[in-house]
Amino acid sequence: MSKETKQFQTESKQLLHLMIHSIYTNREIFLRELISNASDAIDKYHLLSLTDDSLEKTNDYEIHLDVDKKKRKITISDNGIGMTHDELISNIGTIAKSGTLEFLKNQKNKEMKDSDLIGQFGVGFYSAFMVAKKVEIVTKSPFSETGYRWTSAGEDEFTIEEVAKEDRGTKITLYIRKNEEEENYDEFLESYKIRSLVKKYSDYVKYPITMEREKSVPRLDADGNEIEGEYDTVIETETLNEMVPIWKKNKNEITEEELNDFYKTAYYDYNDPLFHIWTDVEGLLTYKSILFIPGKAPQNLYSEKYEKGLQLYAKGVFIMEKCKELVPDYLRFIKGLVVSPDLNLNISREMLQHNRQLMKIQKNLEKKIVNELEKTLKNDREKYETFWKEFGVNIKYGIYDGFGTNKELLQDLIIFETVNEEKPVTLKEYLEKMPEDQKEIYYGSAHSKAALKATPQMDLIKSKGYDVLVLTDEIDEFMISILGEYEKKPFKSINKGDLDIADDQEKEHIRDLETKSVDLLTSIKNVLKDEVEEVKLSTRLKESPVCLVSGDDLSFEMEKVISQLPGDKEVKAKKILEINPQHDLFKAIEKIHAEHPEEIEDYANILYNQALLIEGLEIKDPVDFSNKMVKILIKAAQIGETNGTNIKND
Ligand code: ADP
Repeated sequence: MSKETKQFQTESKQLLHLMIHSIYTNREIFLRELISNASDAIDKYHLLSLTDDSLEKTNDYEIHLDVDKKKRKITISDNGIGMTHDELISNIGTIAKSGTLEFLKNQKNKEMKDSDLIGQFGVGFYSAFMVAKKVEIVTKSPFSETGYRWTSAGEDEFTIEEVAKEDRGTKITLYIRKNEEEENYDEFLESYKIRSLVKKYSDYVKYPITMEREKSVPRLDADGNEIEGEYDTVIETETLNEMVPIWKKNKNEITEEELNDFYKTAYYDYNDPLFHIWTDVEGLLTYKSILFIPGKAPQNLYSEKYEKGLQLYAKGVFIMEKCKELVPDYLRFIKGLVVSPDLNLNISREMLQHNRQLMKIQKNLEKKIVNELEKTLKNDREKYETFWKEFGVNIKYGIYDGFGTNKELLQDLIIFETVNEEKPVTLKEYLEKMPEDQKEIYYGSAHSKAALKATPQMDLIKSKGYDVLVLTDEIDEFMISILGEYEKKPFKSINKGDLDIADDQEKEHIRDLETKSVDLLTSIKNVLKDEVEEVKLSTRLKESPVCLVSGDDLSFEMEKVISQLPGDKEVKAKKILEINPQHDLFKAIEKIHAEHPEEIEDYANILYNQALLIEGLEIKDPVDFSNKMVKILIKAAQIGETNGTNIKND
């Protein structure tokens, strides 16, 4: 094959241009990025070799660095998976992550921390061009006959040609730029600088990162004694990173900072984790685990692409990056690792699914995490609220998804905003403050606390001083329906069915009124027969004229959520129109009904639409609604005028 010259993808050109010319102040991260790629490539080879018999099984992995000050070059070699000709073109020449470029462009003129950028997108390989005027990759995949050399000066194009390379893996050579006015590149050609960068950014990389080091040793005479003042220079290969897996260290000797650093390197996050949980279990099943709850939910946590799981090591050997059997779905945000000497090294995907040991570890870890959360809820409320903001939805999902099996485990972890309290409360705290005459736990759905407070359904509840849980997440009502009750107190929606909190006298009064107004209510119901199932006088309204409530089963909120789901299930919540008999509007309508029964149609429609609006639901025909309102307003004004004349006449 002769030498090919190819153009970078347009986006890559732009990214390269930005890389070289504008953004970074902190160029030194190139080394971390290249080492991290090398480590990933070794992971890939290693994992493949466990299942592919054509690949040599080994534990001799290494990332080797070399600095040549005279020739101004740095090389990073690994014995990982390497790349085939096509992989070289598709992996290196294109930007995989959509959005990266957009982000970069927007940030171009802003002050930006590079850690933000790397954390979000991991710009990776291209960062080499921040320090190098030319980059060369020589690579060989175990699946191709020969090796390939890729070179580029990071401008428009790159070249590829065949080269002889015996061993699998990749060697990247950076030709370091000359110093410019404000930029010092020379420092990257100093071994001590490279050593310190490895320590700083890559200490926890799990393969040895090695470099040659010149050492002066005292010269010895024939008898093996040191000759004073005379030295020999010898070259030793030194491992720069600590590499002792963090779990092999003594738990008590590890500082919080070390653990945070480990977390950030191992799981590519730029924020510190919120918690870590370190477990050592010995017995029938022996394992160690270090779990982390991230400080922020990753952007793609709820997308299909997100892969949950923990790193799995068996007998100290890395066997899997994301073992999903170790975490239940609702805890998908947990990061960390599990090391167990009891697991089989040649464990396959199929075996994992039915592995009793793994299931047992999963159950134990789940309990550990819940325990830790309970402890935090009790001892550090602020931290817990931060956790809840990021991951509360997951806990709710856990309750819903478990169809009640997780109820006992998780129900005390939920915190709710409530109408009366400033800070979110647990169910236990809600019960503690519940007045004696209150029999149920009230909740209401709305898009905010303020919106819920303003609904007509709050009238009576407010007058009684009861508190109401504010549900704002889509999952909330589904979760509540799974919970059913808490400490024998049933949940009750303030927007559903009969509230049944009015006192007996009041109820009787309403029943009397209903008997009296049966004609009127029937007329309204006839007008609205396609819209509502029932029209009745309300015991829950104090100040508002009307409200719409749903039947006992499906709420309006659930109707909205279900109708957004894919599929064509049509579900409808039962609608009940409640009218406030104490309101002047009701009295006015009574009068209209008695004097001009033909006008009741307009009034019924207006009442219903008004109730829809208050509930945040769409009205079918806004123009018609508006016309009817106008008609009534004009009529009211005319009556007013007549009344006015009367007054004058008096
Ligand atoms: P990222 O590592 O985030 O995917 P990079 O731009 O750093 O993005 O690398 C792009 C791709 O190039 C990698 O996903 C990998 O497939 C390939 N690659 C980079 N470095 C190496 C290497 N040392 N060995 C094998 N493949 C590599």
